[in-house]
Amino acid sequence: MAKTLFAIFGNPVSHSKSPLMHNLAFQGLDFNGCYTRYLLEEGTTLKKTFFALGLKGINITVPHKEHAYDACDILDPFAKKVGAVNTIIEKEGKLYGYNTDAPGFLKAISEFEAVKTILFLGAGGTAQSTSSILRDEGYDVTLINRSAGRLEKFKKSGFKTYTFDNFEPCTYDLVINMTSAGLEDESLPAPKEILDKVIPGAKACVDVIYGKETPFLALSKAYGRPTKDGSDMLLYQGIIAFEYFTDHRYTFTDIKSHMQNAFRL
Ligand code: NDP
Repeated sequence: MAKTLFAIFGNPVSHSKSPLMHNLAFQGLDFNGCYTRYLLEEGTTLKKTFFALGLKGINITVPHKEHAYDACDILDPFAKKVGAVNTIIEKEGKLYGYNTDAPGFLKAISEFEAVKTILFLGAGGTAQSTSSILRDEGYDVTLINRSAGRLEKFKKSGFKTYTFDNFEPCTYDLVINMTSAGLEDESLPAPKEILDKVIPGAKACVDVIYGKETPFLALSKAYGRPTKDGSDMLLYQGIIAFEYFTDHRYTFTDIKSHMQNAFRL
């Protein structure tokens, strides 16, 4: 029987761990599927490309999550609210869109107890979906960002927002790097003078970047703070996407037991 086909669309996409994660879970759970990667250069061609490749489902990474949103016929209410889709399933010729980044992130930080206040360094697309789910769950999220422009929509939705120039530090339980600073360079997500004010009082410091120790995590460790990188967020968003891909046939725990092997290879 022909395999059911899945893929990740992105640009770049060669670095993605998603094919390994999903294929290990397909093999381990004996699901007749195959997951590949596709370099999508032009986001507006997403829907056409999806059908031309005969896919059943995709994940979408940078920079196409808004194009993915536009391509969907039916949106999950949370994806609709945050305007970003990272998982699409085809059912009877229609594309259904979901956001699994935010619930994946929420689960990844759930290990930290007695957390109420959170400082986000950064205000991009990932900050948008994760800040929304955190607020729904009762956390108090403040954002600081390099440029003022990106903060506008957060301010309009009622978040406390600062640029580097007008920041008024206070104590935050978690400080989280939501920027791409440190991903392909050695930069900090905010000036060191600001980080020196917020890191020492934090219960823990988290980075959404995975697979390396960023300058932000190195600085947090130097202050003796517990740290966590973005690997669990990646794993959990993948497990939740896999649940959609396989129509909730497997439990979270069963999928995790296979998918997490991608981080040991
Ligand atoms: P966006 O491009 O939407 O936003 C980037 C953000 O980073 C902006 O706030 C930008 O600020 C800021 N920024 C970039 N470079 C610097 C710098 N040198 N100094 C200070 N601020 C900087 O990106 P995303 O929100 O999509 O992604 C953010 C990060 O999240 C990426 O590193 C990505 O890899 C990671 N990620 C991890 C996932 C996981 O599963 N672990 C899932 C999804 C994303 P400005 O407005 O000033 O430009």
